[in-house]
Amino acid sequence: MPNKIRLVVHGAAGRMGQSVLRAAMDREDCEVCAALAPSHSTLIGEPLAQVYGKGAPDIEFTAQLDPDLLPDALIDFTGARAFDTALALAVGRRIPFVSGTTGLSDDQRLALADAGRSIPVLWAANFSLGVALLRRMTALAATVLPAEFDAEIIEAHHKFKQDSPSGTALALGRAIAQARRVDFDAVARYGRAGVTAQRRDGEIGFSVVRAADIVGEHTVLFAAPGERIELTHRAGSRAVFAHGAVRAAIWLARQRPGTYDITDVLG
Ligand code: NAD
Repeated sequence: MPNKIRLVVHGAAGRMGQSVLRAAMDREDCEVCAALAPSHSTLIGEPLAQVYGKGAPDIEFTAQLDPDLLPDALIDFTGARAFDTALALAVGRRIPFVSGTTGLSDDQRLALADAGRSIPVLWAANFSLGVALLRRMTALAATVLPAEFDAEIIEAHHKFKQDSPSGTALALGRAIAQARRVDFDAVARYGRAGVTAQRRDGEIGFSVVRAADIVGEHTVLFAAPGERIELTHRAGSRAVFAHGAVRAAIWLARQRPGTYDITDVLG
Protein backbone atom coordinates (compact mmCIF):
# COMPACT_ATOMS: atom_id res chain seq x y z
CA MET A 1 0.00 0.00 0.00
CA PRO A 2 1.47 3.42 -0.95
CA ASN A 3 2.00 6.11 1.67
CA LYS A 4 2.08 3.88 4.70
CA ILE A 5 2.62 5.94 7.84
CA ARG A 6 6.05 5.10 9.28
CA LEU A 7 6.02 4.81 13.06
CA VAL A 8 8.74 4.88 15.68
CA VAL A 9 7.83 3.07 18.91
CA HIS A 10 9.71 4.46 21.92
CA GLY A 11 9.57 2.06 24.87
CA ALA A 12 9.12 -0.90 22.52
CA ALA A 13 10.25 -3.43 25.14
CA GLY A 14 7.59 -2.41 27.67
CA ARG A 15 4.07 -3.74 28.22
CA MET A 16 2.45 -0.93 26.25
CA GLY A 17 5.27 -0.71 23.69
CA GLN A 18 4.82 -4.36 22.76
CA SER A 19 1.09 -3.92 22.55
CA VAL A 20 1.60 -0.91 20.24
CA LEU A 21 3.90 -2.98 18.02
CA ARG A 22 1.18 -5.64 17.70
CA ALA A 23 -1.52 -3.03 17.05
CA ALA A 24 0.58 -1.42 14.29
CA MET A 25 1.21 -4.84 12.71
CA ASP A 26 -2.56 -5.40 12.54
CA ARG A 27 -3.01 -2.41 10.24
CA GLU A 28 -2.36 -1.99 6.52
CA ASP A 29 -1.96 1.78 6.61
CA CYS A 30 1.16 1.96 8.80
CA GLU A 31 4.47 0.23 9.39
CA VAL A 32 6.90 0.30 12.28
CA CYS A 33 10.25 1.64 11.05
CA ALA A 34 11.99 1.71 14.45
CA ALA A 35 11.47 -0.05 17.78
CA LEU A 36 13.47 1.78 20.46
CA ALA A 37 14.43 0.19 23.77
CA PRO A 38 17.00 1.27 26.38
CA SER A 39 20.62 0.34 25.55
CA HIS A 40 20.73 -2.19 28.43
CA SER A 41 17.64 -4.07 27.17
CA THR A 42 18.21 -7.71 26.25
CA LEU A 43 16.06 -7.10 23.16
CA ILE A 44 18.63 -4.76 21.53
CA GLY A 45 19.77 -6.30 18.25
CA GLU A 46 16.93 -8.82 18.27
CA PRO A 47 14.92 -8.94 15.01
CA LEU A 48 11.24 -8.15 15.58
CA ALA A 49 10.40 -11.29 13.59
CA GLN A 50 12.13 -13.31 16.32
CA VAL A 51 9.62 -12.00 18.86
CA TYR A 52 6.51 -11.51 16.73
CA GLY A 53 7.02 -14.08 13.98
CA LYS A 54 5.97 -13.75 10.34
CA GLY A 55 4.36 -10.45 9.45
CA ALA A 56 6.68 -8.47 11.74
CA PRO A 57 8.62 -5.63 10.09
CA ASP A 58 12.13 -6.52 8.95
CA ILE A 59 13.93 -4.46 11.62
CA GLU A 60 15.71 -5.01 14.94
CA PHE A 61 15.16 -3.44 18.35
CA THR A 62 17.64 -0.54 18.63
CA ALA A 63 18.65 2.01 21.25
CA GLN A 64 19.04 4.93 18.82
CA LEU A 65 16.95 6.17 15.92
CA ASP A 66 18.83 5.73 12.64
CA PRO A 67 19.70 9.30 11.45
CA ASP A 68 18.72 8.37 7.87
CA LEU A 69 15.15 7.41 8.78
CA LEU A 70 12.32 9.84 8.06
CA PRO A 71 9.46 8.66 10.33
CA ASP A 72 5.96 10.14 10.15
CA ALA A 73 5.17 9.80 13.87
CA LEU A 74 6.70 8.65 17.16
CA ILE A 75 4.69 6.83 19.84
CA ASP A 76 6.06 6.97 23.39
CA PHE A 77 4.95 4.77 26.29
CA THR A 78 7.82 4.77 28.79
CA GLY A 79 8.18 6.55 32.10
CA ALA A 80 8.49 10.13 33.27
CA ARG A 81 12.30 10.17 32.81
CA ALA A 82 12.42 8.57 29.38
CA PHE A 83 9.62 10.86 28.22
CA ASP A 84 12.11 13.79 28.08
CA THR A 85 14.39 11.79 25.77
CA ALA A 86 11.46 10.90 23.52
CA LEU A 87 10.20 14.48 23.31
CA ALA A 88 13.71 15.85 22.59
CA LEU A 89 14.11 13.27 19.82
CA ALA A 90 10.76 14.18 18.27
CA VAL A 91 11.42 17.92 18.41
CA GLY A 92 15.02 17.55 17.17
CA ARG A 93 13.98 15.39 14.22
CA ARG A 94 10.63 17.15 13.67
CA ILE A 95 8.55 14.00 14.14
CA PRO A 96 4.87 14.26 15.17
CA PHE A 97 4.75 13.07 18.77
CA VAL A 98 2.16 10.86 20.50
CA SER A 99 2.66 9.96 24.15
CA GLY A 100 0.66 8.06 26.72
CA THR A 101 3.33 8.23 29.43
CA THR A 102 1.75 9.26 32.72
CA GLY A 103 3.15 10.80 35.90
CA LEU A 104 4.49 13.87 34.06
CA SER A 105 5.59 16.93 36.05
CA ASP A 106 4.28 20.46 35.43
CA ASP A 107 7.60 21.27 33.69
CA GLN A 108 7.13 18.31 31.37
CA ARG A 109 3.61 19.44 30.52
CA LEU A 110 5.04 22.88 29.69
CA ALA A 111 7.75 21.31 27.53
CA LEU A 112 5.03 19.39 25.68
CA ALA A 113 3.03 22.57 25.05
CA ASP A 114 6.22 24.27 23.88
CA ALA A 115 6.95 21.41 21.48
CA GLY A 116 3.47 21.93 20.00
CA ARG A 117 4.78 25.16 18.46
CA SER A 118 7.14 23.29 16.16
CA ILE A 119 5.60 19.81 15.73
CA PRO A 120 2.14 18.21 16.17
CA VAL A 121 1.90 16.73 19.70
CA LEU A 122 -0.80 14.65 21.31
CA TRP A 123 -0.59 13.38 24.87
CA ALA A 124 -3.41 11.39 26.44
CA ALA A 125 -3.73 9.81 29.85
CA ASN A 126 -5.87 7.18 28.20
CA PHE A 127 -6.28 6.21 24.55
CA SER A 128 -9.52 4.27 24.84
CA LEU A 129 -12.71 5.51 23.19
CA GLY A 130 -14.67 4.40 26.25
CA VAL A 131 -12.59 6.58 28.56
CA ALA A 132 -12.91 9.56 26.20
CA LEU A 133 -16.68 9.12 26.56
CA LEU A 134 -16.39 8.63 30.34
CA ARG A 135 -14.56 11.97 30.57
CA ARG A 136 -17.38 13.70 28.69
CA MET A 137 -20.07 12.00 30.78
CA THR A 138 -18.19 12.99 33.94
CA ALA A 139 -18.03 16.63 32.83
CA LEU A 140 -21.74 16.54 31.97
CA ALA A 141 -22.66 15.02 35.34
CA ALA A 142 -20.53 17.60 37.16
CA THR A 143 -22.23 20.40 35.23
CA VAL A 144 -25.78 19.14 35.83
CA LEU A 145 -25.47 17.99 39.42
CA PRO A 146 -25.24 20.64 42.15
CA ALA A 147 -21.92 20.91 43.98
CA GLU A 148 -23.54 19.30 47.04
CA PHE A 149 -22.96 15.98 45.27
CA ASP A 150 -19.72 14.56 46.65
CA ALA A 151 -17.35 13.52 43.87
CA GLU A 152 -14.94 10.62 44.36
CA ILE A 153 -12.76 8.76 41.87
CA ILE A 154 -11.75 5.17 42.47
CA GLU A 155 -9.14 3.57 40.22
CA ALA A 156 -7.50 0.14 40.04
CA HIS A 157 -4.40 -0.97 38.13
CA HIS A 158 -1.81 -3.76 38.05
CA LYS A 159 0.80 -3.93 40.79
CA PHE A 160 3.70 -2.73 38.59
CA LYS A 161 2.20 0.68 37.87
CA GLN A 162 4.61 3.42 38.99
CA ASP A 163 2.46 6.54 39.32
CA SER A 164 -0.59 7.07 41.50
CA PRO A 165 -3.35 8.13 41.15
CA SER A 166 -3.46 7.20 37.47
CA GLY A 167 -3.22 9.89 34.81
CA THR A 168 -6.78 8.98 33.78
CA ALA A 169 -8.10 9.45 37.33
CA LEU A 170 -6.44 12.88 37.45
CA ALA A 171 -7.89 13.80 34.04
CA LEU A 172 -11.37 12.82 35.29
CA GLY A 173 -10.82 14.90 38.44
CA ARG A 174 -9.73 17.87 36.34
CA ALA A 175 -12.86 17.48 34.19
CA ILE A 176 -15.02 17.73 37.33
CA ALA A 177 -13.10 20.76 38.66
CA GLN A 178 -13.34 22.50 35.29
CA ALA A 179 -17.10 21.88 35.08
CA ARG A 180 -17.52 23.21 38.63
CA ARG A 181 -15.22 26.16 37.89
CA VAL A 182 -12.94 25.46 40.84
CA ASP A 183 -9.16 25.15 41.11
CA PHE A 184 -8.41 21.42 40.84
CA ASP A 185 -5.31 21.52 43.07
CA ALA A 186 -7.29 23.25 45.82
CA VAL A 187 -9.99 20.55 45.97
CA ALA A 188 -8.11 17.33 45.11
CA ARG A 189 -7.77 14.98 48.10
CA TYR A 190 -5.42 12.01 47.77
CA GLY A 191 -6.35 9.14 50.09
CA ARG A 192 -7.75 9.31 53.61
CA ALA A 193 -6.21 7.98 56.79
CA GLY A 194 -6.30 8.90 60.45
CA VAL A 195 -8.70 10.94 62.54
CA THR A 196 -8.39 14.07 60.38
CA ALA A 197 -9.96 12.24 57.50
CA GLN A 198 -13.43 13.81 57.53
CA ARG A 199 -14.60 14.92 54.11
CA ARG A 200 -14.55 18.65 53.31
CA ASP A 201 -17.30 20.10 51.09
CA GLY A 202 -16.31 20.34 47.46
CA GLU A 203 -13.46 17.85 47.68
CA ILE A 204 -12.64 15.57 44.76
CA GLY A 205 -11.32 12.43 46.45
CA PHE A 206 -9.04 9.78 44.92
CA SER A 207 -8.84 6.15 46.03
CA VAL A 208 -6.27 3.81 44.54
CA VAL A 209 -6.11 0.02 44.22
CA ARG A 210 -2.95 -1.77 43.00
CA ALA A 211 -3.29 -5.51 42.49
CA ALA A 212 -2.11 -8.36 40.27
CA ASP A 213 -2.68 -7.80 36.54
CA ILE A 214 -5.63 -5.37 36.50
CA VAL A 215 -5.30 -3.47 33.20
CA GLY A 216 -7.21 -0.35 34.27
CA GLU A 217 -10.52 0.47 35.95
CA HIS A 218 -12.01 3.86 36.80
CA THR A 219 -15.19 4.74 38.65
CA VAL A 220 -16.46 8.28 39.09
CA LEU A 221 -18.89 8.46 41.98
CA PHE A 222 -21.29 11.34 42.59
CA ALA A 223 -23.22 10.98 45.85
CA ALA A 224 -25.80 13.03 47.73
CA PRO A 225 -27.88 11.92 50.71
CA GLY A 226 -30.22 9.21 49.41
CA GLU A 227 -28.82 8.81 45.91
CA ARG A 228 -25.66 7.82 44.09
CA ILE A 229 -24.45 7.83 40.50
CA GLU A 230 -21.50 5.69 39.47
CA LEU A 231 -19.83 5.89 36.07
CA THR A 232 -17.42 3.02 35.48
CA HIS A 233 -15.02 2.04 32.73
CA ARG A 234 -13.09 -1.24 32.76
CA ALA A 235 -10.32 -2.01 30.30
CA GLY A 236 -9.82 -5.73 29.82
CA SER A 237 -6.79 -5.51 27.53
CA ARG A 238 -3.91 -3.13 26.79
CA ALA A 239 -4.75 -3.60 23.12
CA VAL A 240 -7.53 -1.03 23.58
CA PHE A 241 -4.99 1.69 24.46
CA ALA A 242 -2.48 0.50 21.88
CA HIS A 243 -4.98 0.60 19.00
CA GLY A 244 -6.10 4.08 20.10
CA ALA A 245 -2.50 5.32 20.20
CA VAL A 246 -1.68 3.93 16.75
CA ARG A 247 -4.85 5.47 15.35
CA ALA A 248 -3.88 8.79 16.97
CA ALA A 249 -0.36 8.62 15.47
CA ILE A 250 -1.69 7.96 11.96
CA TRP A 251 -4.03 10.91 12.34
CA LEU A 252 -1.38 13.17 13.88
CA ALA A 253 1.12 12.46 11.09
CA ARG A 254 -1.11 14.54 8.80
CA GLN A 255 -1.65 17.50 11.12
CA ARG A 256 0.09 20.86 11.35
CA PRO A 257 2.19 21.73 14.39
CA GLY A 258 -0.02 22.20 17.44
CA THR A 259 -1.21 20.58 20.64
CA TYR A 260 -4.01 18.11 20.08
CA ASP A 261 -6.37 16.18 22.35
CA ILE A 262 -7.47 12.55 22.03
CA THR A 263 -11.04 13.71 21.47
CA ASP A 264 -9.80 15.41 18.25
CA VAL A 265 -9.03 11.92 16.95
CA LEU A 266 -11.69 9.73 18.52
CA GLY A 267 -14.52 12.24 18.22
P1 NAD B 1 6.63 -0.70 31.31
O1 NAD B 1 7.49 -0.49 32.51
O2 NAD B 1 6.20 -2.09 30.98
O3 NAD B 1 7.36 -0.13 30.01
C1 NAD B 1 8.13 1.04 29.97
C2 NAD B 1 9.28 0.73 29.04
O4 NAD B 1 10.02 1.92 28.76
C3 NAD B 1 10.27 -0.27 29.67
O5 NAD B 1 10.41 -1.38 28.80
C4 NAD B 1 11.57 0.53 29.71
O6 NAD B 1 12.69 -0.29 29.44
C5 NAD B 1 11.34 1.53 28.59
N1 NAD B 1 12.28 2.65 28.60
C6 NAD B 1 12.78 3.32 29.68
N2 NAD B 1 13.67 4.24 29.27
C7 NAD B 1 13.72 4.17 27.93
C8 NAD B 1 14.47 4.87 26.93
N3 NAD B 1 15.29 5.87 27.26
N4 NAD B 1 14.32 4.51 25.63
C9 NAD B 1 13.46 3.53 25.29
N5 NAD B 1 12.72 2.81 26.19
C10 NAD B 1 12.87 3.15 27.48
O7 NAD B 1 5.38 0.25 31.49
P2 NAD B 1 3.98 0.21 30.70
O8 NAD B 1 2.98 -0.56 31.48
O9 NAD B 1 4.24 -0.15 29.28
O10 NAD B 1 3.54 1.73 30.81
C11 NAD B 1 4.33 2.78 30.23
C12 NAD B 1 3.65 4.13 30.46
O11 NAD B 1 2.41 4.16 29.77
C13 NAD B 1 3.30 4.40 31.94
O12 NAD B 1 3.51 5.77 32.20
C14 NAD B 1 1.82 4.05 32.02
O13 NAD B 1 1.15 4.72 33.06
C15 NAD B 1 1.36 4.54 30.68
N6 NAD B 1 0.10 3.97 30.17
C16 NAD B 1 -0.70 4.82 29.48
C17 NAD B 1 -1.86 4.36 28.88
C18 NAD B 1 -2.67 5.32 28.05
O14 NAD B 1 -3.69 4.91 27.43
N7 NAD B 1 -2.27 6.60 27.98
C19 NAD B 1 -2.23 3.02 29.01
C20 NAD B 1 -1.40 2.16 29.73
C21 NAD B 1 -0.22 2.64 30.29
